[in-house]
Amino acid sequence: MSFTLAIVGRPNVGKSTLFNRLVGKRLALVDDQPGVTRDLREGAAKLGDLRFTVIDTAGLEEVTDDSLQGRMRRLTERAVDMADICLFMVDARTGITPTDEMFADILRKRSSHVILAANKAEGRAADGGVLDAYSLGLGEPVRLSAEHGEGLDELYHMLRPLSDAYTERAEADAPETDLDVSDDESDTAEDFAPSLKRPLQVAVIGRPNAGKSTLINKILGEDRLLTGPEAGITRDSISLSMTWLGTPTRIFDTAGMRKKARVVDKVEKLSVADGLRAVRFAEVVVVLLDAAIPFEQQDLRIADFAETEGRAVVIAVNKWDLEDDKQDKLKALRTGLEKLLPQLKGAPLVTLSAKTGKGLDRLHAAVLQAHEVWNRRVPTARLNQWLAAMVEAHPPPAPGGRRIKLRYMTQAKTRPPGFVVMCSNPEDLPASYTRYLVNSLRDSFDMPGTPIRVYMRSQS
Ligand code: GDP
Ligand code: GDP
Repeated sequence: MSFTLAIVGRPNVGKSTLFNRLVGKRLALVDDQPGVTRDLREGAAKLGDLRFTVIDTAGLEEVTDDSLQGRMRRLTERAVDMADICLFMVDARTGITPTDEMFADILRKRSSHVILAANKAEGRAADGGVLDAYSLGLGEPVRLSAEHGEGLDELYHMLRPLSDAYTERAEADAPETDLDVSDDESDTAEDFAPSLKRPLQVAVIGRPNAGKSTLINKILGEDRLLTGPEAGITRDSISLSMTWLGTPTRIFDTAGMRKKARVVDKVEKLSVADGLRAVRFAEVVVVLLDAAIPFEQQDLRIADFAETEGRAVVIAVNKWDLEDDKQDKLKALRTGLEKLLPQLKGAPLVTLSAKTGKGLDRLHAAVLQAHEVWNRRVPTARLNQWLAAMVEAHPPPAPGGRRIKLRYMTQAKTRPPGFVVMCSNPEDLPASYTRYLVNSLRDSFDMPGTPIRVYMRSQS
């Protein structure tokens, strides 16, 4: 699976129909893990010789109250952020509606690759609607009939070049393919598909006065390559583009937003909302704590949210210059972290001083590593060797005398890494066993700083 495709669009345009067609009878992963979003369906898709992950924003039809628009927007934004490519579906029979235009807006702002599809386009009755779709300004629509399987060849031809680019990049990134790369012209990973190289997206979050502004200014000051501030993904957000120690980076500046929000009151409340929005935007979330008052309720909430949203997380403890007994303090911080944020086990903890700049290089290294792990793909062969060893070391239980069998494992997704284990009677497997696998995966494959999802699936 080389890339992730999100199917987005308003209810009833035919998203699920296309999803089912792409996924077919192969395992449809419906996230049922606590903390994993329940409204997004994910599956292993097949189109010709293309293999990819597809996300469907299903489950919206059940919502009938007037929060539908907001929910739809949030869900779509989440799907867009998870995906490499978005397939934006409209209904060629009804034509373009204001809701379609809202989606187009979101996509223009948030997604680098959008494929527009006019569905239900079988027959002449749809011609008008297909033409209408040009007005969205997202290029030429693919004429599709998800129900009748028409237009899939055209979709294939649109995805093919993108798939090639993502596959090359993934292979270039994967350390084990180093052996295969012969010493020809291309000597760095950057040489592959440069047009797809996006800046690293980082959010720095934390309670007021944690030192977010100081940190961001320090990072900017060190490189003096500020190209922003620019309009961010939403009207009232601010992101800064820069080169951080050689890494093209976009930092989402919640501190700036808070300062704007000070005009309004309820500063605390607003900064939480801003923090949540920043998390959605980010690939890596830096939770900035004040060493003197770490683990405030607000910090814990946002850190937890980052984990739930599947972002890579780095815990940074600021104002370290003010600490006298650094050894004891560090110990206490680690204990506190383990107790208060067990779900972030394995998140790197970096101490620094935004004021003096000490520790910023370590923060940079931790952010890059967390991002790398977040994107990492473990080869199936290695996973299955590993699974066999884990099962032998600690066999699953045998309820009613029949031992639960874990047969096969594969990595179904990245960003964050998600694994599927084929299992007899997954409903009987205790959650503690899944936790055992998650923790062991983290240790065995050295994956700090990223949520890891393991899904148990029955073989059908
Ligand atoms: P979703 O809400 O966007 O996921 O839409 P669904 O996939 O549930 O489809 C909504 C309705 O449109 C269903 O009744 C489908 O049978 C119908 N539909 C889906 N694709 C097509 C198509 O290509 N042509 C026609 N005529 N109907 C379709
Ligand atoms: P923000 O609200 O999170 O953006 O926090 P600011 O960047 O405005 O910092 C709040 C206060 O903490 C300011 O007075 C900073 O000078 C101070 N501060 C920030 N970082 C450090 C640090 O590393 N050490 C010390 N001693 N003070 C700091």
